[in-house]
Parts: sequence; C-alpha cells; structure tokens
Amino acid sequence: MNAYTGSVPDTRRASDWRDRGACRGADSDGWFPSPGDAVAVKDAKRVCFGCPVMAECARHALAHNIRDGVWGGLSEPQRDRIHRRHAVDCTDLDAVRRVVAKVLRPELNPIMSLRDLWDDRTYPLPGGHLGWRGNSGNFSFRGQVFTPKQLSFRLDRGRKAAGIVRRTCEVVECVHPLHVADGKERAARKRAAEALLAERGGAVAA
Ligand code: SF4
Ligand SMILES: [Zn+2]
Repeated sequence: MNAYTGSVPDTRRASDWRDRGACRGADSDGWFPSPGDAVAVKDAKRVCFGCPVMAECARHALAHNIRDGVWGGLSEPQRDRIHRRHAVDCTDLDAVRRVVAKVLRPELNPIMSLRDLWDDRTYPLPGGHLGWRGNSGNFSFRGQVFTPKQLSFRLDRGRKAAGIVRRTCEVVECVHPLHVADGKERAARKRAAEALLAERGGAVAA
C-alpha cells in the first residue's frame, strides 16, 4: 500500500528527466516497436531528436543496460555498439552526450555521414598508408553502394569516380585517397607520361 499523502513528490518529480521528455503522454508502444519495424524506430527517433532530455534518457538506458526499445534517440543495436566500442562513464552526462552525438551523427547530420563512416572505418598503416576495417567489398550506405576505394576517392576529390578506382601503391589493403585513382586520372597520368617520354625522345634526337 502506498501510504504517501504529502506534496514532496511534486517537488521531486519536477526534477525527474522523464517529466521533461518529449514523449511524455504519448503511447509508449511507439518507443518499443516490433523487431524489424524500421519505420516505427525512425518515428520514435524523430521525437527523441527534439527532446530536451535526450542525453539523460540515453544515460538511463545505457547505465541499466536496457535491451528493448528506443531510448535517447538510440536504437537497441546502437546501444549495443556503445557498450561494445565505447567505455562510456554513465556518471558523466557530458561523456554520454558526446558518445550519443558521435553514434547519431550520421542521422542528425546526413551531409557529414560519409565522412563519419570514413573516419570510423579507416586506420593508419605503416609507411603513410591507410587501412579499412572489416570487409573490403561493396557496402551500402543510405541507398548508395560504395567500395572503400570509391568512398576514399569521392571524399577526397569531391566527385564520383569515373570507372574503376584502383590502388596505385603496393600495399594491398591501402585505401589512402592519394594512393587511389579512377579511370580518368589513370588516363591523364598515362598521357602525361607519354608526353614526357616523347619530349625526352625529342631532346635525345636533337
Ligand atoms: S529521448 Fe525519446 S524516449 Fe527519451 S524521454 Fe525523450 S522522447 Fe522519450
Ligand atoms: Zn597506400
């Protein structure tokens, strides 16, 4: 039995982050979509992204290892990823805020998303080369299909590659933007080399 009759809860509850949640009063089922219901997850996230207590909510779910539902704009796989890859200190709200912003950046700022993906997946190799974590085959991102080398080219040159992007260095796993070239660049290099040879030939003959 709840014997409480006083007014203190009003004061205590006023400081509870839940009371300031943008989902307050909404049907909570919206935040616990059926498995695989991407549309429902997106709808819940849209509300979370405008919520004033997003970080507090995310912290609560992370600290209590809550498995189901959308919390603080994070889906269950995204919280899993934070648990696996970021040793976040849940007592530090700013640290939680930073990690949530990092994980959600592609959704919150789609223009930056390919760059974020690049930063996330590449790592330095000895000799100034750059490796790619995980599968080096095609991957799909926001409906676009890339190979790591195509992404490298696109981010560095600011345009879509013409033809196949090939590695120009000797390190098989390298995706360094200066160590890849598309068909157009390879053709231009070939022409420049031929012109140089012709020039040298002319100089020798003279
Ligand atoms: S972040 Fe989302 S789930 Fe959490 S309180 Fe806000 S709207 Fe509700
Ligand atoms: Zn290289």
